[in-house]
Amino acid sequence: MTSTRIPGRRFLHSPGPTPIPDEVLHAMSRQPMDLGDPRVDATIAACEHGLKRLLQTEDADVFMVAANGHGAWEAVIENVAAPGEAVLVPGTGHFSEQWALQTEALGRRVVRTPWIEGWPIDVEAVEQALRDDKAHAIKAVFTVHTDTSSGVTSDLAATRRAIDRAHHPALFVADVVASLAAAPFAMDALGVDVALGASQKGLMCPPGLGFVAVNAAAFAAAQRNPAPRFYWDWVRRKSELSYRKFCGTAPQNLLMGLEAALGLIFEEGVDAVHARHAQLAGAVHAAVAGWSEGGALGFFAQDPASRSVSVTTITVPPGTDVDALRTVARERFQVAMAGALGPLTGRGFRIGHLGDCNPAMILGAIGGVEAALVVQGIPVGAGGTACAVQHLAANYIPASITRRGA
Ligand SMILES: *Cc1c(COP(=O)(O)O)cnc(C)c1O
Repeated sequence: MTSTRIPGRRFLHSPGPTPIPDEVLHAMSRQPMDLGDPRVDATIAACEHGLKRLLQTEDADVFMVAANGHGAWEAVIENVAAPGEAVLVPGTGHFSEQWALQTEALGRRVVRTPWIEGWPIDVEAVEQALRDDKAHAIKAVFTVHTDTSSGVTSDLAATRRAIDRAHHPALFVADVVASLAAAPFAMDALGVDVALGASQKGLMCPPGLGFVAVNAAAFAAAQRNPAPRFYWDWVRRKSELSYRKFCGTAPQNLLMGLEAALGLIFEEGVDAVHARHAQLAGAVHAAVAGWSEGGALGFFAQDPASRSVSVTTITVPPGTDVDALRTVARERFQVAMAGALGPLTGRGFRIGHLGDCNPAMILGAIGGVEAALVVQGIPVGAGGTACAVQHLAANYIPASITRRGA
């Protein structure tokens, strides 16, 4: 560990927190305001409208919370099911399991569909679990869009169709913490009743601001829900008063940052943001394919179509010291990447490629990781960096270079 300054920047390639644009940092470096200042309300309204636009919903109300993604999870659990009631959690990996455990800790019952390592949600198992629930005890389906540990993105439209085929009234809840502003998502068109997210991933803000978007059916379910709650209660938060919206003082500086970040996303164009993520993910995937020719590394996500545009999980041979690899990458080559979580701990590492990211940053990250792999004696074949260069050279996205008139 060193506290001395490094020359240049250390590249942050965890899948959250992600690098924060200067515009967002600057927007946050303002003095707080008194609670009655109309500028507070204007900032909140801009964030609510911007999130609705990004989520592509006309119908939903947005409730923001001064909390991380786990806080948004808790808000959903407390509002959509009462203690003793059940929810279905389709297995996607570490994040679906953590959400399921949090749900059980709060006294709700969880029905799980099995997680198949390296694969997205098994929609047939979802349909069967709902068909088996003849009494409609299951109140909601808690779906992780991109599982940030496995690097797998599941098909939300297929999951919606599975619920419909089972003719089950459960609410469809989508966790888009790791996918929003990276992969396409359209709440209303997908028939999602509740979407939840957090500030520190595709939204390019510091951690600490979570949100839920709640449609009329989900809000009605919350109104009927007898579970005792206060801080997380959507019904209590539905108000024009900022003090009610946030159940207390609004996290003003985080909201200033989010307003600026949403402005950057719309300035670039949401489609251009998605295209840029696909391009950069393609470069990382090309690099991993190149490295895998050395015989040691591979993709955790088995189906190329379900590989996330936000984060790539790379498997290592048994016995590999992943922590040592990450330390060499971070301290010697200035690339901070993530380990694998939960059941994947020690079996891989993850490169985040979401948020405020461009081709030069991706090439720097891949080059730094490759150097660390070489130092650690992990075979990388003929290398991945050259493959990433080839990918970027062949995939030109003009919109991504006109951003902010740079
Ligand atoms: C990061 C993440 C979370 C948890 O967010 P925190 O802010 O760390 O609490 C939940 N779901 C997904 C899919 C995530 O990627």
